[in-house]
Amino acid sequence: MSNPSLPISFADISAAAARLQGVAHRTPVHTSSTANARAGAELFFKCENFQRMGAFKFRGGYNALAQFSPEQRKAGAIAFSSGNHAQAIALSAKLLGMQSVIVMPKDAPEAKIRATREYGAEVILFDRYTQDREALGKQIATERGMTLIPPYNHAHVMAGQGTAGLELIEEVGTLDILLICMGGGGLTSGCAVAAKHLLPQCDVYGVEPLAGNDFQQSFRSGQLVKIDVPRTIADGAQTQSPGNLTYAVCKALLKDVLTVDDHALVNTMRFFAERMKMVIEPTGGLAAAAAMLGDSEGKLDVKGKRVGIIVSGGNVDPAYYAQLLRDGV
Ligand SMILES: *Cc1c(COP(=O)(O)O)cnc(C)c1O
Repeated sequence: MSNPSLPISFADISAAAARLQGVAHRTPVHTSSTANARAGAELFFKCENFQRMGAFKFRGGYNALAQFSPEQRKAGAIAFSSGNHAQAIALSAKLLGMQSVIVMPKDAPEAKIRATREYGAEVILFDRYTQDREALGKQIATERGMTLIPPYNHAHVMAGQGTAGLELIEEVGTLDILLICMGGGGLTSGCAVAAKHLLPQCDVYGVEPLAGNDFQQSFRSGQLVKIDVPRTIADGAQTQSPGNLTYAVCKALLKDVLTVDDHALVNTMRFFAERMKMVIEPTGGLAAAAAMLGDSEGKLDVKGKRVGIIVSGGNVDPAYYAQLLRDGV
């Protein structure tokens, strides 16, 4: 199945996979008989917490930067992010021998600022209360001729993220359901294109934080909905609105967008630590939480099904992680 009106095709994901070959990790697919017993289903976890820089975002960042023209390469890449997209662009630029600038709020966690600098990026801090990030970014991009790479609403980013879904299906074969952690929908749109091409019968769902259900509202109402910055521990999914490109793909290919609450995320992080010996970040557990504990509306039925789950990342401050596991939310 290929829909020519969508911004990305299966061929774009195959081409991204070729670019990432030998550069990105082919992350493992883990299973757990305890998880299967709890869900009453066969669950396959694609572990992007083991990806380079700790999350799937490396796939999309590298796929975008690898397609720069010689002129774009000379000037380098710029991104606004205090999260995993920042590290993805910084590391990709370093591997491709180009400069990168990451614009971050000056109250971003010190560890994240340091990590981004260690990957070789120039970090420019701004005051989120007095300065307009977009305007600042545009000014720097124009002055230095740099190319701005957004975290999800970009065809090359979306196609790169889709390689996670492609690898999962290549490894485990047929799936009845695919569940994907969702913020702005870059990962979900890429994986949905791969899944619906290879397994047209597979039902694909995005899973968002309950408090930040901008995509669910948009998907169900048929128009882009914008919400206030959501209060959730899923910091990788605190988006306020879907992108127009990610929305177009998700609207065409998803069965639905589901939500889970922060309690379910903590319980899922605890399960991964205790049973699967894995550190996952709160956002990384969205899809797994829906499969193991159910979604907030009780809509998802996985009983007896083969279910693919993208575990999206593992970047979480150790002290905060310990506190969440001990005290909950
Ligand atoms: C960015 C991110 C997401 C959300 O991805 P989108 O492409 O914005 O939907 C989910 N999990 C982690 C760990 C992330 O870094």
